[in-house]
Amino acid sequence: MKLGSQKRGRLTFQEEVEARSGINPARCYQCGKCTAGCPMTFAMDLDPARVMRLVQLGQRDQVLQSHTIWLCASCETCTTRCPQEVDTARVMDALRILAREAGFTQAEKGIAYANQGLLSSVRGRGRVHETMMVMLQNLRTLHPFRDAEKGPTMMLKGKISPFAHRSGRADQVRRLFENVERIEAQRAASAQKSAPEEHAPAAGGNE
Ligand code: SF4
Ligand code: SF4
Repeated sequence: MKLGSQKRGRLTFQEEVEARSGINPARCYQCGKCTAGCPMTFAMDLDPARVMRLVQLGQRDQVLQSHTIWLCASCETCTTRCPQEVDTARVMDALRILAREAGFTQAEKGIAYANQGLLSSVRGRGRVHETMMVMLQNLRTLHPFRDAEKGPTMMLKGKISPFAHRSGRADQVRRLFENVERIEAQRAASAQKSAPEEHAPAAGGNE
């Protein structure tokens, strides 16, 4: 493994993650407490401590193409346990954003779609329309009837509705999304200035 082998422009991967998350991954001294407490390690291909180490070593593609970053449930157990006050959950968030930007969502496409579906539902109506979200998810993942048999029971019990309700504050929610998009565009522009030669989509992108 070559240290810093995936330096992006003037930024190392570690610096890129720090710029996006506000967390300095170099503070991690590999005690493993995050991994010991993480409820999702059984399914992960890289445990949280290993993710932090690979970030330190500049292994951008390996981290951004991992299943781990999508399987992280953002429960923040790792963050709470870290003796170095490294907010690993926030780092995972930043890694998902970087992975999406690089087109690396193949590892857990279903989760990436669910993410996208939930956000567009909230953006459109100010709240989630679960029925529509699940139907779109099934269509995108080419499993149109997955869990369909549970729908009628859940509707009868009032857990989901076939009708899309709009929140009274949908306009405020939409403005929130627009503000976030503006901030993200500004950040992307500033990252572009920091790493001029790195602007084309990643060659290994596979979405
Ligand atoms: S708990 Fe903190 S210091 Fe320990 S391995 Fe995890 S991130 Fe690193
Ligand atoms: S936030 Fe993610 S990485 Fe951290 S403990 Fe929870 S599932 Fe594991």
